[in-house]
This record gives sequence, C-alpha cells and structure tokens, in this order.
Amino acid sequence: MSSGQAHVSDILIVGGSLAGLMTGLALSRHGFSIALLERSTDTDRTGAALQVGYGLLEQLTGRRHAPGMLATGVQAWQSVYRGLRGAAEDAGMLILQNARVETVGEDEGRAFATTVDNRRFEGAVLIGADGYQSIVRRYLCPERPDAMFADYLAWVGFAEESALSARFPPHLEFLESGPYLLLGFPLTAADGSPERGRRRVGWGWYDAGHNAILRETGAVEGDLVRHSLRPADMPDALFDELAALARRHWPSPWRDAILECIARKAVLGTPVVQYLPDRLASGRVCLVGDAAHVCTPMTGNGFATAADDALTLARFLDAEALRSDPLGALRSYEASRLPEVRRLGRSGQQISQNFVRASR
Ligand SMILES: Cc1cc2nc3c(=O)[nH]c(=O)nc-3n(C[C@H](O)[C@H](O)[C@H](O)COP(=O)(O)OP(=O)(O)OC[C@H]3O[C@@H](n4cnc5c(N)ncnc54)[C@H](O)[C@@H]3O)c2cc1C
Repeated sequence: MSSGQAHVSDILIVGGSLAGLMTGLALSRHGFSIALLERSTDTDRTGAALQVGYGLLEQLTGRRHAPGMLATGVQAWQSVYRGLRGAAEDAGMLILQNARVETVGEDEGRAFATTVDNRRFEGAVLIGADGYQSIVRRYLCPERPDAMFADYLAWVGFAEESALSARFPPHLEFLESGPYLLLGFPLTAADGSPERGRRRVGWGWYDAGHNAILRETGAVEGDLVRHSLRPADMPDALFDELAALARRHWPSPWRDAILECIARKAVLGTPVVQYLPDRLASGRVCLVGDAAHVCTPMTGNGFATAADDALTLARFLDAEALRSDPLGALRSYEASRLPEVRRLGRSGQQISQNFVRASR
C-alpha cells in the first residue's frame, strides 16, 4: 500500500500480542475483515507463565481447531503466542508487523491509525491492544494516559529442566522469605508434554529493594516505566549480589534454577506497572488487555482478563451492531467490563501496596 492511500477494514487492531490476537479471533466469528498492526518484528518475548484453559481457542472463535494448536496448562508466552498467531492466520486476519502506530483518531464516520512511515489504516472500529504504554489510551484518556511504576520489580528467568539435576514439583509454587516473594513454575513443553526432564522451569522473584538500578539505567523515569532492565545493563556485581541472595533466601530446586539463569546472565528485571481505568471506550475506539488495565503479575490473571475482554467485546460487537450502532456496542462493552476490571485492578494495587510496605 502506498502512502496517501488508506487501507480500509471493518476492524482495526493496534498491537499484535496476546490481547490483540485474542480480540481479533473472537471478532473473526462475525465474518469481519480485520487488520492488526504490530510495531515489532521480534516476537521472541518471555516474562509470563500463562494458564491456558481447555478449549480457549474454540471459545474465542466458536470453531473447532486442530488438536494441539494451543496446548493447555501452564505455558510459556512464546508457545501461547505461536498458537494464537497460527489460528489468526487461519482465520484470514491481515497481520502487519513493522507497523508502528503513531496517531489514532476518528473522522468522517471512521476510526483511523497512521504509522510512523505514513501509512493510513481505517476501520469502523479501532481497538487498542497495544500494552501498558498504549498510544490508543493516550487518545482515549488524555487526562491520565500513563501506567505507573508500582515501586518494585520482578526478576524473571527460564531454564531447561534437563540442565538441572534437582527435581521440580509438578505445580506452581509461591515462596516467601524476608522481604521477597518467589513464584516458581514448571512449564508444559512446547509440544504440550508435561513430562519431567522435557519441561522448562520459570521463576519470578519480586523485589522492592533494587529500584535504584531501574532509575540509574533509565528503565524507570519518575513514575513512568520505560523498559525492562536487560542483562546487558546489569553490572557483574549485581549478578553476584542476586546469587548470594538466592543462596540465602531460596531453597532447592528453585535456587538451582535461579543460579543457573544467573550463571548464563539470562535474567530480566521487569518493573511492575499498574493502571486502573476510568474508561474503556469512546466513540469508535476501545481498549483491551494491558492497554485497558494493568495490575501486578502477582495476581496471575492478566492473560485471562484479556481473554474476557475479547469475549465480551465480541458478544456486543456483531455484524448487525457494526452496521447499525458500533458506538452503542462499544458503550455496552465498557459498561459490562469496567466494574470487573476496576475490581481486579484495586485488588492488584492492594497486593502491591502490602508487598512494598512489608519490604521496607
Ligand atoms: C513479568 C510478567 C509476568 C507476567 N505473568 C503473568 C502471569 O503469570 N499470568 C498472567 O495471566 N499474566 C501475566 N502477565 C501479564 C500478561 O502477559 C498480559 O496481561 C497479557 O499477555 C496481555 O498482554 P497484551 O497483549 O495486552 O499486551 P502486550 O503483551 O504488552 O502487547 C502489546 C503489543 O502491542 C504492540 N505495540 C505497542 N505499541 C504499539 C504501537 N504504537 N504500534 C503498533 N504496535 C504496538 C507491542 O509491540 C506488543 O506486541 C505477566 C506480565 C509480565 C510483564
């Protein structure tokens, strides 16, 4: 498509991660043409251990899918992404990567998005699924556009179980020691196998004592989170300190997994962010997933909440509603979801406050 000429579809989704893909899949059941704009080309992200419920894809699309397309159980982000992405391609969604949206808005009875390289996309409805630093939220809630740093971080790492001699439990474990919390979880193998030795294990270590390094490296500026703390930004002394803390605070087998990740310098420091929404929709524009609401990963419900957003939106925004009253459908979506996501957000804020207070 050349610049100057708009690409037109029924539905425009900004953000092609899990919330964007699930929303596109849920809306695909109504036969809409859907364009999904994703800024990155790199889809190799980690960070979350996601609980995928049985039949999630079928619930989203209302269709049957090849067995194993999206394995159930506790999954790594990448496995879930691959399953949803495959289903979205099967559903005929137009997925454009390397499409960084710069502005969104509404004119002449359409919503639109323009990219940094001057491409213009139009749709009857635009959905912001662009994560905690959402540009669509900036348009929808200009008076309070930003998610805020919750004053602590999660160190996150993943290891191959086969590289470790310790035996890991079959289920997720939550441990507490001194000012820290640790979530350890075995992940189902990429092919869905829960077999010991073929699994990966992941851990998230919550820590309110290392905020200074986030500020020194620019990962956090004021109350705003800019990015995660990458291993390359972490001095050797910090890895040594984390290893000493792990030996002191965490028992085997999780200590073994943490030390193995530290030895490989495969640890990410993720600042925790939160956003409690006042609004989910306005005119032809609405928000889903982390763009709409973010709370601490300690609650473990970001993915399930994004799936509920997608399903609720598809309940109100069907082919008839898109034709006759898309604004009314988005208002109904907001009225149905806002009380629940605010309740979840408040409880997440309380969990964060309690954790930070107990750490001081
Ligand atoms: C460390 C960590 C641990 C977590 N643990 C859990 C857990 O245990 N359980 C759980 O349920 N959830 C967990 N979550 C949360 C969960 O991953 C998310 O809630 C869920 O994946 C939904 O994310 P999303 O798609 O809304 O946002 P994101 O994954 O942030 O995706 C946003 C997408 O939009 C794209 N984008 C952004 N701006 C633009 C733009 N201008 N133009 C085009 N594209 C753009 C981005 O590149 C990205 O692909 C965790 C999150 C973190 C960070």
